[in-house]
Amino acid sequence: MDKKKPFIVPNYLRQFGQSLTDIILPPQPLFRPQRGVHDYGAAESWADVRFLDEPCCDYCGFPFEFETSELTLSAAPCCGRCAGRKPSYDRARAAFVYDAASRSLVLRFKHGGETEGVTMFAQQMLRAGRKLTNGAQVIMPVPLHSRRLMKRRFNQSALLARAISKQSGIALETDSLLRKRHTPSQGGQSYVGRRRNVSGAFKISPKAQLRGKSVLLIDDVLTTGATLESCARTLKRAGAKRVDAIVLSRVVKPSTLPT
Ligand SMILES: [Zn+2]
Repeated sequence: MDKKKPFIVPNYLRQFGQSLTDIILPPQPLFRPQRGVHDYGAAESWADVRFLDEPCCDYCGFPFEFETSELTLSAAPCCGRCAGRKPSYDRARAAFVYDAASRSLVLRFKHGGETEGVTMFAQQMLRAGRKLTNGAQVIMPVPLHSRRLMKRRFNQSALLARAISKQSGIALETDSLLRKRHTPSQGGQSYVGRRRNVSGAFKISPKAQLRGKSVLLIDDVLTTGATLESCARTLKRAGAKRVDAIVLSRVVKPSTLPT
């Protein structure tokens, strides 16, 4: 009886087979997204975040801890500060409170370049500011001075504005409202200090057509409101009919002012 020679797979065939298997079942995922600290789809990333909604001050969006009754609704609900002096913007809303629970989400986005959460941030901003998108004709981010843009590599407000424009269908304009001068960081400054800091910091591009327009401003954090105030004044001087603002987060207690 003839002894059959065992078939030995030549090396070149074995290597070819291995390459083929690697293509069909790669040992590592072909694309592995760079993940930051937060998994934005995970409940624990949002666990203690205080999302904002009505009831709130109709002007600045300051949250009220109780429902405003039918009797008090003869006028728009208004916080003490706005009752004393109305802001230059018409209405502002924030998606969540800026505090110890949300600080890391915001600062990793703002300074850390962690941009994976933008779509979810935009969804939350549209939820909180749903009334403000009605009639808004154009979305504008609060601009960053080119010096800070170079350092940070991106304008976080522009990223949010782009995502909100995509989700809402409202046109995005990033070259109408411009930063006239570089302003020092506002961290730790009071309202008066911040107001002085951003006063006259913005200008309108000569090409912009703002007359009679309803503008929706987008920013990341509302602290004292001085930046929105300065932007709204500049836009209204250029003929904007209405300036509303949606921000990602807002300070409710001054002790949590971001740096
Ligand atoms: Zn208010």
